[in-house]
Amino acid sequence: KRERPEHLRGLNNAQYSAVVHNPKVPLQILAGPGSGKTRTLTYRIAHLIKEHNVEPSKIVAVTFTNKAANELRVRLHALIGEKAASALVLGTFHSICGRLLRQHGHAINIQNNFSICDADESKKIINGILKDMVAASGAHATGAQRLDIKDIVAVELISKAKAKCITPEEMESTARRDLQRTTTLSKGETSPHIMLQLSPVYKEYVEECQKHNALDFDDLLMLAVKLLKKKPDCIDIEHVFVDEFQDTNTTQFELMVLFAAKHGNVSVVGDPDQSIYAWRSAEVENLARMILRFPNTQQIYLEDNYRSTGAILAASVAIISEDTNRPPKTLRTSHAFGATPTLGSCADEHEEAACIADEIKRLKLISGGLLKWSDFAILLRFNALSRNIETALQREGIPNRVLSGHKFFERIEIKDLLAYLQIIDNFDFDPAALRIINVPKRNIGNKSVEELRKKARKMKKPVMHVVEKIVDGRIPDINPPVLNKAKELVRTMQRLRKLSQEGMSVVDLIQELLTAINYVEYLKTTQQDWEARWENIRELITFATETVPTAGMETTLTVPTSPTSTEPIPLSAVGDDESESSSFATPFIGKDTPEEDWGSQSKPILIFEDDQEEEEAPSLLPETMTPLRAFLQATSLSTDTLVNEDDTQEKVIISTCHAAKGLEWPVVFVPSVEQGTFPFYRSDDTEEERRLLYVACTRAQVLLYLTHAGRRKIGGESKANDLSEFVKAVIDKDTAKTIFTHNKPILHAKEFGVLGKILERKAPDPKECDAGVSTYLKSKPAPIAFQGVKGNPEPQRPNNAETRLISERTALS
Ligand code: ATP
Ligand code: MG
Repeated sequence: KRERPEHLRGLNNAQYSAVVHNPKVPLQILAGPGSGKTRTLTYRIAHLIKEHNVEPSKIVAVTFTNKAANELRVRLHALIGEKAASALVLGTFHSICGRLLRQHGHAINIQNNFSICDADESKKIINGILKDMVAASGAHATGAQRLDIKDIVAVELISKAKAKCITPEEMESTARRDLQRTTTLSKGETSPHIMLQLSPVYKEYVEECQKHNALDFDDLLMLAVKLLKKKPDCIDIEHVFVDEFQDTNTTQFELMVLFAAKHGNVSVVGDPDQSIYAWRSAEVENLARMILRFPNTQQIYLEDNYRSTGAILAASVAIISEDTNRPPKTLRTSHAFGATPTLGSCADEHEEAACIADEIKRLKLISGGLLKWSDFAILLRFNALSRNIETALQREGIPNRVLSGHKFFERIEIKDLLAYLQIIDNFDFDPAALRIINVPKRNIGNKSVEELRKKARKMKKPVMHVVEKIVDGRIPDINPPVLNKAKELVRTMQRLRKLSQEGMSVVDLIQELLTAINYVEYLKTTQQDWEARWENIRELITFATETVPTAGMETTLTVPTSPTSTEPIPLSAVGDDESESSSFATPFIGKDTPEEDWGSQSKPILIFEDDQEEEEAPSLLPETMTPLRAFLQATSLSTDTLVNEDDTQEKVIISTCHAAKGLEWPVVFVPSVEQGTFPFYRSDDTEEERRLLYVACTRAQVLLYLTHAGRRKIGGESKANDLSEFVKAVIDKDTAKTIFTHNKPILHAKEFGVLGKILERKAPDPKECDAGVSTYLKSKPAPIAFQGVKGNPEPQRPNNAETRLISERTALS
């Protein structure tokens, strides 16, 4: 038997055969959580580079989150060195597409300074459209004609339409046809009446985005498909890798095919049991579609779990096995059986949060230094659950951070500054203009802002152009104080734009901006907690120092100097995003904005006409990816980027279950395991909810806690809640009571020795564990305990904490 090359030790046989599997034969690695899929994918990439001499820049590796992209890069860095690792085209679909469009978008008439609309901005645009439509039809509208779509619903439905290649026109015609139908609506289907009302909103939304030179998350993918179809040779890719393939949607599948168009070399890894994004148009059927598209695809299964203890795996598998339509799978643990997962029952959400905080503190204390704060994760079904938990952790002095989407970038002060920077980069981006026009206060009240928006829409011009006209005196009837303030704004923006174009660094630009608009003063006078907000701004500046392209990245960030250049340019990911939605068709229909008679310098923004020659659009000449643009792209796509990453090292992580996909922690808590949360009351796919709980549980390496509260206040209303049906089904069957325990695991030095082995860390000194136990007992004479689940026998309660510790020792093999 030939000995394995050095770099391929640390793989089991199945993983090894997947890694060395013929690179020219498409491959699906299908396996359960923690079986080393991502690890195998990483090694396969390294192997291609080392043994098959594939150029790193010709490898695309797509991950689901930004965090996962960073981890993959770090792992590859160790395997193949920094230079090769940074040359890979590595990132999320959105980040790779964003970069591709910045570099080659001119081929489909997209300016490379496009702004990326986040969900909130899309919502605002749609809100404006709805308002105008209601106002326009208002006087005459009868009950039936009145628009009864909420902006948030419209955003969701439009995103779904884009994900299914449905244009506004198609939406309208389908709705008309469906209106004739007499069949009842199937589950999750939207009524044709609503779709008919929505189609003109969708159409206007597309036009508005074009006018603002803005793309939303769906557009990034959709337009990359369009670009790659039109100019397949703008990239040169030999191998394509996709992690978490079960959660790709139609457009992402199409992108994968287009990336692989030339060589057909694709390797994907996935697990149907972990598909949790159908609600965002992901299609697990893509696994089957791949085999149709690449008929010689081979499948490899991995069956050994390296992440979790046997007990955690047993509980997780028990939960997922209740889905009777799912084919059973083998998943063996490679570790000891470990502590039985705890099912904690609390009176209400406050007690639950306190129990979790207390338990984290206890484990940290008694682990004799084995466990760090960053070894704990609390995984939530939805963000709003985090408030009580954060409070409880803070009360106990436990450092923590919320890893949840855009949080940081959603703060008022951050959004304000980013809006200014967006305008500096893209003058036409109205959502940003409307945000800052009266920030700091310029006595331009909401009513005037609304007037301005309407005027801009009527003139089919971006808001900032209208403001310029006002300042030039071309639009009369503005009172002088407002006029002066507006003048100041216009002058400031013109000056900053110039500085930016001259290549000023983002950090300097932010400093200039802060001084120019005197933002600190504004914060002081309007926000009580202005100091904390000022800290956030400083954090943004830190982030700017980290994202600005370095000398090394400069080459990969630069776009060709000639629009006709077909030289493939290496893409490099600065990693971003967990944004998931997407689509495929191109609802952007070529449309020239008519020039207004008061004569403007502005050009039509996006012209999506396939047969348009590049040479005809000199105004769309590509520029380099400026530092500002790189920075803005990183902020708008960085839903899971931790700002100031170093800072996160020693903190308990609070995350949504969705964002935790692919990650692992030694200790995991899943609160609110209740009906209404699991399954979530708004979801109509119970099995996807079950899989989500399965994903959450399988993040745990050594200790897992599910908790639920008898009563919980949600949306201001306190309600009684039953235990989640997913867990109830398991404990009802579990007559031996071995899958879940109602007690906290009792852990002593010996047990921690076992944990240390799983985590590959040095076993703690027993003396330190003992000292930790007594410190804990002293600090909490009457520790808060999880109680027995209602309807089930109470566990034997020892009289005091000390005996409890001994009597409840959990067997750890
Ligand atoms: P998920 O489905 O949750 O994404 P996965 O299948 O991608 O899981 P990985 O994250 O690759 O699993 O691996 C899980 C853990 O097991 C990681 O800590 C990884 O380093 C470890 N691991 C995987 N394979 C091996 C192996 N052969 N030897 C030792 N550790 C391994
Ligand atoms: Mg993985």
